[in-house]
Amino acid sequence: MPWECLTRVVVLDKPVCSVSMGGARPLILDSLPDSFDVMTNVNSGRGRPRKSLGQHFLADASILDRIVAAAELTDQDTVVEVGPGLGALTRRLAQQAGQVIALEIDPHLAATLAGRLDNPANLTVVQSDARTVDLTALLGGQTCYKVVANLPYYAANPIVRRFLEADLPPSLMVVMLQKEVAQNMVAKPGDMGILSVAVQYYAEARMVCSVPPRAFRPPPKVSSSVVRLNVRAQPAVNVDDAVGFFKLVRAGFSARRKQLRNSLAQGLGDPPPKVDALLLSADVDGRRRAETLTLDEWAQIYRCWEQQGAIASASLRQD
Ligand code: SAM
Repeated sequence: MPWECLTRVVVLDKPVCSVSMGGARPLILDSLPDSFDVMTNVNSGRGRPRKSLGQHFLADASILDRIVAAAELTDQDTVVEVGPGLGALTRRLAQQAGQVIALEIDPHLAATLAGRLDNPANLTVVQSDARTVDLTALLGGQTCYKVVANLPYYAANPIVRRFLEADLPPSLMVVMLQKEVAQNMVAKPGDMGILSVAVQYYAEARMVCSVPPRAFRPPPKVSSSVVRLNVRAQPAVNVDDAVGFFKLVRAGFSARRKQLRNSLAQGLGDPPPKVDALLLSADVDGRRRAETLTLDEWAQIYRCWEQQGAIASASLRQD
């Protein structure tokens, strides 16, 4: 898709209003209105923040600073921001990065963002859905970029997945998500889930900070956390087919509280003796639970599973 089709930058005469407010924590009120009335005013003609699009705007300056600091930006960096909203984070990103591409699904917010921030020269606003946007067209020839975002809860997983699995992945992602999702992404063996394995296959994940509901306007019902994903040049483990690898991992987590031998038998639809032989050859105790396995152990089971499959199909050919 050509850039002209993707880009909608609208210039407004004035930045959005500035409102003062008491309280201990510094709030971003040069770019983000605090009260609901002001919010409605900003979205004039369109109404309230759209819950269905996860529109909870970050209003805590210290959290915004921590997100930007975690991204370690220089003027050489290109940043893709997913869901710039009213622009509190975008303003800081544009001050520190060389180029910012802000990707917003809401046509009204996309059309008014640049004007709200006084039209920074290094900001491009793109109105599109981050789950389906053509990343190559979005990046316009850039091959190295970072993603920084306060993600909408409803689409956080597919958006992270989209970037991690892309042909052109970012070097780094700093993203805010629902606290439980973030904890799952950074989990260690003992607490791992499918999401932990999937994210850590592509990236080294660490927690940056926790964020309470009061940091947002309007406040969400759940707590949030910021995670930093250092995207690996190569996946964490060497498997020749990522799709087959995740099929096995999914099977292993198909019955979470069961022993691995039982959950794998159920998930793969294989008889327990066959799974026992598989786990024996991979040197993994079948009485363990899926959440305790390391990525190396999953990879070892996968390689043995592939071999088992290869032996079975060779003997079928001979018959
Ligand atoms: N970055 C702003 C901030 O920190 O205050 C807003 C964050 S708000 C949690 C999520 C933003 O993502 C909203 O502006 C929403 O319209 C936008 N959004 C929701 N779904 C999206 C999608 N699929 N693709 C791109 N943007 C999306």
